[in-house]
Parts: sequence; structure tokens; C-alpha cells
Amino acid sequence: MNGIAASQGIAIAKAYVYEKVAFIIDEKLIQEADISSTLERIEAAKEMTKEQLKAIGEKARASMGEEEGKIFETHMMLVEDPIIEQRISEHVTRDLKNAEAAVQLAMTEISEMFLMIEDPYLRERSADVVDVCTRMMYNLANIEMPDLSHISEEVIIIANDLTPSDTAQMNPKYIKGFATNAGGKTSHSAIMARTLEIPAVLGLKNITEAVETGDWLIINGAAGEVILNPNEVEIETYKALQSQLEGHKKELQKLLNEPAITKDGHLVELSANIGTPKDIESALKHGAEGIGLFRTEFLYMDRNSLPTESEQFEYYKEVAEGMKGRPVIVRTLDIGGDKSVPYLDIEEELNPFLGWRAIRMCLDKVSLFKTQLKAILRASYYGKLRIMYPMITHIEQVRQANDILEQAKAELREQQIPFDEAIEVGIMIETPAAAVIADLLIKEVDFFSIGTNDLTQYTLAVDRGNEKIAKLYNSFHPGVLRLIKQVIQASHKAGKWTGMCGEFASDPKAVIVLLGMGLDEFSMSASSILEVKEMIRKLTFSQAAEIAEAVTNKVEVEAIENYLARFAGK
Ligand code: PEP
Ligand code: MG
Repeated sequence: MNGIAASQGIAIAKAYVYEKVAFIIDEKLIQEADISSTLERIEAAKEMTKEQLKAIGEKARASMGEEEGKIFETHMMLVEDPIIEQRISEHVTRDLKNAEAAVQLAMTEISEMFLMIEDPYLRERSADVVDVCTRMMYNLANIEMPDLSHISEEVIIIANDLTPSDTAQMNPKYIKGFATNAGGKTSHSAIMARTLEIPAVLGLKNITEAVETGDWLIINGAAGEVILNPNEVEIETYKALQSQLEGHKKELQKLLNEPAITKDGHLVELSANIGTPKDIESALKHGAEGIGLFRTEFLYMDRNSLPTESEQFEYYKEVAEGMKGRPVIVRTLDIGGDKSVPYLDIEEELNPFLGWRAIRMCLDKVSLFKTQLKAILRASYYGKLRIMYPMITHIEQVRQANDILEQAKAELREQQIPFDEAIEVGIMIETPAAAVIADLLIKEVDFFSIGTNDLTQYTLAVDRGNEKIAKLYNSFHPGVLRLIKQVIQASHKAGKWTGMCGEFASDPKAVIVLLGMGLDEFSMSASSILEVKEMIRKLTFSQAAEIAEAVTNKVEVEAIENYLARFAGK
């Protein structure tokens, strides 16, 4: 069976089919007189849910570490989330729904709201809402929620989907792999599998029907393959592959403290993209030399009011200190349009990707923007921070943002609050307009970072989240490659540097071209760093430059990819 390759590695073990009882909510209308008793029942279920989450969180912290434990603190906060609470109480008091139905309705509405968000990490919060509300519904119905805590022999878990509370309760020692019907590359189960370095294939649609507990399975995580009831030859072949992969992993580990340098001495920087301070641990573990993109959106989402300056200061300071003097590029708020933040009054738009978002919104909300800049500046005193503005199209935007930054600095000087006076400022190049005028924009800033996720969607006019046109979304399109080359050249001509923080920077084929074009910094998911480093250390810069040159003479996307695949395989 073929699914989505979510976490690499080979697993060979017996299946354990994890089925949750189908749980059908009995939707009823209540009498007005029953409103208060219904709300009381919900309150009691909430208390019970919190107690259970606390216990699971402690267990997860003990067996899997601090990070996994923290998920449940977030879940406990979700139980009391005022937006969820409000929806539930409206369904009871206004719509006269019974408790179970009110919780289910609120769950569907809020989780769907998260699903609309384009950012894959934030979209996953939807699963958290479902997980927490489902537990509340089980508690309302007085039914015990099934879990995986009793597993005590090596198995591959087969499930429809795995939630944070499922993965937290299992003992990672016995879990050799996951294969699920649902889920994608950024779902919770995928993230967990990668964190625990367990092979996983997701999005298999009907594996729970095809497999029975006790069946032998092979999972090939990198290829997205699951082999049911393999024969002896297959088992031997995959065992050999498994030990080869483990050998490679050990080899990669040796590169941890080595520089990302080509055979002929061309040095580049490899950094990690992070979303919250807790991601630092993994960045350092994988040898990140810095943070090339710190997405600050998370701090603003899933709450009822703006984070204060001091709250933001603490948050950024944690990252500045955590990276111990290594550079951290803090991207200012990239929110709006399709990312819903209820307290910001962002109206629904016909074309959210072309709408009121990121720097456009920040320049209209000067006080919000200045608060963030002041918090970043204050944190810059505790490490090496850089500031980066997203979604730039116009030179005026950079100038205006820099003016507000100067005001923020002046205010801090007045308050005698220290900050890094030499803090560098850069912009993301993620629109074709910015790429084309890179020679002008570079005069206003210290560096560029190319956001290929958006640059590709805007250059090719292909929505990055639309499955139907996913085939057209390809950063190897010569239109995108030419823009990238132009941006790097413009920065170098001005004696400055260019990084890349879009997904493209971790594609092994892309790494060759980008290196050859002279890209100075590659920023990516921490887990890709060592593989990219290995690729860079195998090449010479002159060879990469030649390949990059040859690629610019090709016009068909497939020809470009095929040509590069020959070198990437070596
Ligand atoms: C990008 O657009 O490439 C990028 C890194 O930003 P985001 O994915 O957060 O839009
Ligand atoms: Mg972007």
C-alpha cells in the first residue's frame, strides 16, 4: 500500500490495529429549564477532562520528555479556552442543544476554523481541539476513552489517526512504526514519529480495513510504502536496507560539528526554522548554526487579546538565550487574510493570499507593530537577533517599517532599556515584485531571505494549498529559479548576503543549484540539516556553479529535475 512518507526509516514488526469505539452523539433539544443543569454537566466533564490530561501529561513527560508533556498543558488550556467555552455555552443557552451536541458542534466549528489556516503548523491545532473535545464528550457519556498504554511488545500501530493523547500514552520502546488512514506530513502523528525517529506512513485511506492485529508488516517510511504479510525475501531485503539506513544515520551524526563546506572550501551556513522557543532543543540537536526563520505568529494565535510587550520580550529572550549567541532571524508578524485571529477584526477576504496580511497589516496597525519591534529589540540584548519583515512588495514598506523600528529604538533609549544597537534588518523575498527590484531593496536592508513557499505560489499563480493544482506548484520552474538567482546576485553586488527559509532549501536537488548560485544561508526543518550538510560536503563549489549554469539553460521543469537528480543521487 502507498501513502504519505511522513517519517523515514524501515520497520518490520507485527501489526496492532488500534480502533476507537465509534461514538455517536445523541443530539437532542433541551427545555429552557434544563439550561443550568446542562451547563453544570459540562462543567463537571471539563474538570474530569483536565484531571485526566494532567495525569497523561505527567506520564508523557516521564516517558517522552518535557516537550511531549507540554502538549498537555496546551490541551488543559484548550479545555478552558474562552472561544470554545463561548461556543459551547451559546449552543446550550441560545440553540437549546444538549451537552454532548453542544460540545460536538463547538468542536466542529473551531477545528474547521483552524483547518482554514494555510500555515501547516497552525492548521494542526485543529487536531488538538478535536482531541480535547472528544475527551470531553467521552466524559459526558461516562465512557472510558481507549488508549495505547497497555502495549508491551514490539508492534506497528495501525489506526485511523493518532492524536496527541494516543501517542503520549504509548511506550515508545515498543512502537516500531505508525501507519494510518488519515494524516499528512505535518499532522501530529507525523511530527511525533519524526521526533521519536519512528518510521511512519500516513494517509493510507483504508489500512485499518486491510490489516488485522498480528499480521506481519514492513513500513518503508521514506518511500511511503507498507508491505502486508511480506515473504521471506522481502523481509531479508528490507532488513538489509534497514541496517544500511542505520549506518547512514550514524555517518550523518559524525557531521554534527563539522562545517557546511564544499570540497574546495566554499562555506555556507545551515540554520533551522522554528515556530516556538521549544523548537530550539531540536535545532541544536541537529547542529543548526542559527535560526534562519523564527515564525512569531504562534504567540498571537489561539488567545483573546494581543500579547503584551513584556510577554513577547520573555518569549523572544528565551530564543535569544537558548541559541547561545548563534544568530536568530525573528520574522515580524505574518498574519491576516487566511489566518484567523478573532481579536484582530480581520475581515473575510475574497483573495486572502493577495490580501491584508503580514507587513501590510502591521503598517496599518502601527502600535501593534511597534510593540513587537520593541519586544524584539529588548530581547536582542540577550543574544544575537536579527529582524526580518515578511511579504514585502514595495520599497516604501521597507522604509516605513524601518522608520517605525527607529521610533521603537528611540523610545527604548529614552526609557534607558538596553538593546543591540547594531541589530541587522532584512526582508523576506517571497513576491516576484520584490525579487525583480532586489537591487533597489538591498540598499534599505542588511540581508535577504528567500521564502520559496510563497515566491513559488505568487510567481506561478498556483495556490500552495490547493491539491488540484499541486502538480503545477514546483520551485524548479525556470521562472522561480531565475528570480532566485537574480536576488542572490543583487545582494552580493551590494556586498550583502542572501539566505533561504522556504522548503526548497532542504530539497537535495535544489541544494546543488542554490549552492551553485551562491546562496549564503540555508534554513530548514532541523531534521533535514545533516543531510543537506552531507550533500554540500560532497560537492565542489565550481561543480555546483557549473550545474546551476547548465540548469538555467533548460526550460522544462521535468528536464531540470531529472538533470539534477543525477547529481543528487551521487
Ligand atoms: C515562505 O513563504 O517560503 C516562508 C518561509 O514563509 P511561510 O511558509 O511562513 O509563509
Ligand atoms: Mg511566506
